[in-house]
Amino acid sequence: MKASQFLFATLKETPSDADIASSQLMVRAGLIRKIASGLYIWLPMGLRILQKVERIVREEMQNIGAQELLMPMTQPAELWQTSGRFEDYGPELLRFKDRHDRDFVLGPTHEEVITNLAKGELRSYKQLPITFFQIQSKFRDEIRPRFGVMRAREFTMKDAYSFHIDQASLAETYRDMYDAYTRIFSRLGFDFRAVQADSGSIGGFASHEFHVLADSGEDDIAFSTISDYAANIELAEAISTGERQPATQELTNVDTVNMPTCEAVAAHLDIPLATTVKTLIVKGHTPEGEEQLVALVLRGDHTLNDIKAEKIEEVNTPLTMASEEELKAAGLLKGYIGVDLDIPVFVDRAAAILSDFVAGANEVNKHATGVNWDRDAHITRIVDIRNVLEGDASPDGQGTLQIKRGIEVGHIFQLGDKYSQALGCSVSGEAGKPVTLMMGCYGIGVSRIIAAAIEQNHDDNGIMWPQTPDVKDSLAPFEVAIVPMKSKEETVMQTATELYETLKAKGVNILLDDRNERPGVKFADLELIGIPHRIVVSDRNIAEDKYEYVNRRDGEKELLSRDELLAKLG
Ligand code: ATP
Ligand code: MG
Ligand code: MG
Ligand code: MG
Repeated sequence: MKASQFLFATLKETPSDADIASSQLMVRAGLIRKIASGLYIWLPMGLRILQKVERIVREEMQNIGAQELLMPMTQPAELWQTSGRFEDYGPELLRFKDRHDRDFVLGPTHEEVITNLAKGELRSYKQLPITFFQIQSKFRDEIRPRFGVMRAREFTMKDAYSFHIDQASLAETYRDMYDAYTRIFSRLGFDFRAVQADSGSIGGFASHEFHVLADSGEDDIAFSTISDYAANIELAEAISTGERQPATQELTNVDTVNMPTCEAVAAHLDIPLATTVKTLIVKGHTPEGEEQLVALVLRGDHTLNDIKAEKIEEVNTPLTMASEEELKAAGLLKGYIGVDLDIPVFVDRAAAILSDFVAGANEVNKHATGVNWDRDAHITRIVDIRNVLEGDASPDGQGTLQIKRGIEVGHIFQLGDKYSQALGCSVSGEAGKPVTLMMGCYGIGVSRIIAAAIEQNHDDNGIMWPQTPDVKDSLAPFEVAIVPMKSKEETVMQTATELYETLKAKGVNILLDDRNERPGVKFADLELIGIPHRIVVSDRNIAEDKYEYVNRRDGEKELLSRDELLAKLG
């Protein structure tokens, strides 16, 4: 690319409304322009970077057999009404009407649409497991858009969704995704950590977030100095936005409890699958179910032994959920976590009430799915890091905790059957009967990755792109820039152009800075944009077959011959 024909939109001044290093540098380097709060244009220089991230993400998704598709950003409200999220999602969901007065939303995520698609397209267990992904715009009406593209309202996400006949298959794909994410963030050259996230009572299984470590991160993550233990708790965020209040001021470590399937539990407890029981236990699979179970014990003086002893018939029918107030008044509820703030976090006492129930059920699940659901795997220990200090013992008993700020760049989730239940997504199973599918969902903040990369890699002069194990994965919009010292002088321009063509032919991502600017201006721009390698061609040096080479990271200058240069960069 010749710089004279490319939009260089660099700025000398720091824009007044850009709040952290990455957002300032992205605007100054001419990667993005803001058009309104949380809405950005990707300029040609920035788009090159975005597409580089997309390429890596796409490759790793294809690598694990995920199939790319593309869903519209605009989604009919009916699907969200069916899943219950039209009401529940809250103000981040932008709702609007078309000219026919029909309700629509701008998709903040695509579980409803993909589940509805799977419902229509998948017929048999033989088609499973299957994973789809897209790289596409999302809209979330964030309460506080900030930090440039880091927390935008419209942003690019890679979202993937997998469908399974059973939990064991879901667990397998989840593992593949975990590994693919690890490869993506390693290829990008990030200093990152995978941490346990607010797992799930949603269908009840695992969830991990991938965090780029940086002081400007909005999440606190705690990890052990010696073991693999690492965790994030979003509860702190939910409470700090005032959307939820903690039940008690004294917050301790808590367990969230995941529930097994209804038939399995009923069989294990050896109780008839009366409607009430069925409702109770099916609901027990969901966060509401947990609240119902607690309500049962709270209101009716019922213990789980009562349930086992078939006193279940005496239970109020229909069961209503314990309200938030009721749970808090009883000192059982700590708060809510999760993307939709719909996962209750119970204090230890409530968890104890539930865990008796779960302990038996785990046995059954182990039996039914062949997956070893031992208590560690199944009950997630959540650490409220606001009460954990650096140096505290790690919850797994190995080493002490270190606390760092992290930027969430990826999130993988075992959803279970939350959406497939709601939208009626099933296929015919091996025995010919319909089986409701298990699902996983997996997100990567493609545009946020760029801001995170800059947060982790910059200096006073501008951006330094992360050093990637493979240079082809480098995020730099151009890898090498050639600056002719006197662009009006013919031999200089000829030599520079010839070198440019040679490197270009070798596949080097190269820029010839032939702009009509002073060298000082060009050097400053190239440093701001973070071009890793700079070559200066000057008449004085060409005579001796020398080229001045400067590395953006260490700033060291070297005088190299043409051959040495080609060997270094070609
Ligand atoms: P956060 O906790 O930062 O609000 P989230 O947990 O709401 O993120 P997910 O629903 O897990 O986000 O979405 C998957 C990924 O999309 C996130 O891991 C993040 O990298 C990215 N992402 C989420 N919200 C935004 C946003 N407003 N702007 C840019 N990227 C975002
Ligand atoms: Mg969010
Ligand atoms: Mg989050
Ligand atoms: Mg998340």
